[in-house]
Amino acid sequence: MAIDFRSDTVTRPSKAMLDFMIQAPVGDDVYEEDPTVNELEKYTAEHFGFEAGLYCSSGTQTNQIALKVHTQPGDEIICHEESHIYRYEGGGMMINSQASPRFIRGNNGRIIPELLQDQINPDDIHYPVTKLVSLEDTANRGGGAVYDFNDILKIKDFCTQNNLKLHLDGARVFNALAVNQCDPKVYGKPFDSISICLSKGLGAPVGSVLLGSKDFIHKARRVRKYLGGGMRQAGIIAAGGLYALKNNVHRLIEDHQHASLLEKHFKTVTWVAEVLPVTTNIVVLVLKDATKQNHYIAALKAEGILVTAFGKGRIRFVTHLNISSDDIQKVCQLKLEV
Ligand SMILES: *Cc1c(COP(=O)(O)O)cnc(C)c1O
Repeated sequence: MAIDFRSDTVTRPSKAMLDFMIQAPVGDDVYEEDPTVNELEKYTAEHFGFEAGLYCSSGTQTNQIALKVHTQPGDEIICHEESHIYRYEGGGMMINSQASPRFIRGNNGRIIPELLQDQINPDDIHYPVTKLVSLEDTANRGGGAVYDFNDILKIKDFCTQNNLKLHLDGARVFNALAVNQCDPKVYGKPFDSISICLSKGLGAPVGSVLLGSKDFIHKARRVRKYLGGGMRQAGIIAAGGLYALKNNVHRLIEDHQHASLLEKHFKTVTWVAEVLPVTTNIVVLVLKDATKQNHYIAALKAEGILVTAFGKGRIRFVTHLNISSDDIQKVCQLKLEV
């Protein structure tokens, strides 16, 4: 079988996870009567020190719901120019929230707190109302970069001073926590809402959880319903998420070690100009010859190695729980001097 580095979303549920899912007690989650969904929401919320959680079908949905609840039509959302909420959610920010993005430059996908100064619109009818700052940790387009927690606190101070809410797209927040070693409750404190993907490196087949205050989640539940995201006996899939949180968090460090081996290897490869600094499970190669991007992707594929194009002249590898040390060795021994 191919070694699939295209994304950590390609992970498949293990036998143990499937067994756990089959045995999960279920009910109608639209009536809030699914015990497994309720347990997952409570477990995740408590883990990060939040009042409540909401299980949703995808990370796009949890992000979109959060943006919608935090803003009114016409408001402005501050985000990094490379953020998932802007680039990869089908224009949902503009469709669902009728909000416009205001881009902040940054360092490998992370907002630099100092650059936020002067980015708030004054109360003037010409300008949209700035309402929300959204961060991504780890930052996908930044090669899986992790925020320095002190920078998050600086950004929070800025939000407090300017009456802005702070959202976290924490699709890979557990990868970030494995690196910054923060207590999840301390880490969660600055944020008004957090979106967490269970279906990436954690290995669950479906779902994300949105965290917030009781009032926020009450509103979020309504948005989820009208987006068509209210599910019935969702406990079957939520159980996969619960299993993932309890069993697969501790092993993420292995994925980071694998990524770091790939980084070391590709730094010695002649057709690679640069490897973005690797701290988590994402490895981005910057090619010497951008025009050969498809050529390298095809050559890797011919060797049974699947990767993705990641912008002009860039190739992304993502490590995850279905990638073994042997797989990494195979890639590192490959002679692809073409
Ligand atoms: C994967 C991802 C999401 C959510 O994606 P879905 O495929 O909708 O679950 C959100 N943000 C980031 C940074 C991601 O990598």
